[in-house]
Amino acid sequence: MPYVLVINSGSSSIKFQIVDPTASASDEPFVSGLVEQIGEPSGRITVKHAGQKYVVQKEVATHAVGLEETFALLDAKGVGPTQLDIVAAGHRVVHGGMVFSQPELISDPVVEMIRTLIPLAPLHNPANIDGIEVARKLLPNIPHVAVFDTGFFRDLPPAAALYAINAEVAEKNLVRRYGFHGTSHEFVSSQVPALIDRDPLHTRQIVLHLGNGASCSAVENGHAIDTSMGLTPLAGLVMGTRSGDIDPGIIFHLYRQGGMSIDEIDNLLNRQSGVKGLSGVNDFRELRTMIDNEDENAWLAYNVYINQLRRFIGSYMIALGRVDAITFTAGVGENDKHVRADALDNMRMYGIEIDPEKNDLPNDGPRIISTDNSTTKVLVVPTNEELAIAQKAARLASQIR
Ligand code: AMP
Repeated sequence: MPYVLVINSGSSSIKFQIVDPTASASDEPFVSGLVEQIGEPSGRITVKHAGQKYVVQKEVATHAVGLEETFALLDAKGVGPTQLDIVAAGHRVVHGGMVFSQPELISDPVVEMIRTLIPLAPLHNPANIDGIEVARKLLPNIPHVAVFDTGFFRDLPPAAALYAINAEVAEKNLVRRYGFHGTSHEFVSSQVPALIDRDPLHTRQIVLHLGNGASCSAVENGHAIDTSMGLTPLAGLVMGTRSGDIDPGIIFHLYRQGGMSIDEIDNLLNRQSGVKGLSGVNDFRELRTMIDNEDENAWLAYNVYINQLRRFIGSYMIALGRVDAITFTAGVGENDKHVRADALDNMRMYGIEIDPEKNDLPNDGPRIISTDNSTTKVLVVPTNEELAIAQKAARLASQIR
């Protein structure tokens, strides 16, 4: 069976999967794994295959060592990349800037181009390049494909993409809305027309990707027309640990009056804010337990989260004019019925009505959760970014063969 190796390389970790690109979103990957704490004495390699989990604790000096050791571990189990029919490697790349809208067959010039985009994603793109270079050396005979988080949003209309700041400064510094989670928004929105029996070229929809990171998009006839993340993935919705949109003046205030450094503010807004900043926890299962125990901060955090979500839903309803579908996806969107119910509460006058019984059903594949009377269909569609990357890589590989 032809498989695709999917690599998501971070600054101190590599996540990887070996995936059958024809699988469904809820299938377990054939092989999955994680190399953690690269460069630290406390490294760890975890591999999962056929219901078994193998963990090796050892120092992993570099990304190259991490992938080599992982491949050796998989070889020993008989599922190494060179033992299987691997047709392509798909690499997640966070920032494609204004350069890349589509998956790209990786060559030296493409790597150099991704390198020029490092100023836009200083933590992510260098790590993504590390993963690409190591994997190309270890598997030189298969096509490697870069899939960009920003790609689906590359062609946002200027009115949605531009910030109202000095145009020269913005252009010099490449400041504009790029959007992220694009692979997920595209994967999910592309499934919706068939589920609601509509022509994809005449479908207007809102996608709510609610995971630890969260973003939403307005999609018209297959094209994104707006999205909540911006120059960076810090913007938009309230998230697990990220603030989402705030008054930019808060940053000057914290710097000048609060005596905080730029790095401290960066850490505050990215890692100590959002639901965690308000309640102490970022996992929605823990948040719900705290709400059930009448923890006031948890209740407040939840309400701020829902309020911000409803603001975005409302503005995208206006941007789209007619909304055929609103779809929930990712960890919170797929599993938390309270979030879904509260996000769309009291919207019957807009033709949006969730069926509480359908909403209560456990997460089990793509499904409609609105009432038959609801003119806007409400759906839950599980996302699977690795599978989406595998499908894109396999498609491109088959075109060049
Ligand atoms: P993701 O980033 O898509 O993996 O989503 C991770 C988040 O999903 C976790 O931090 C939880 O907040 C949330 N989550 C996962 N499972 C559940 C569940 N059964 N109920 C509520 N929230 C969940």
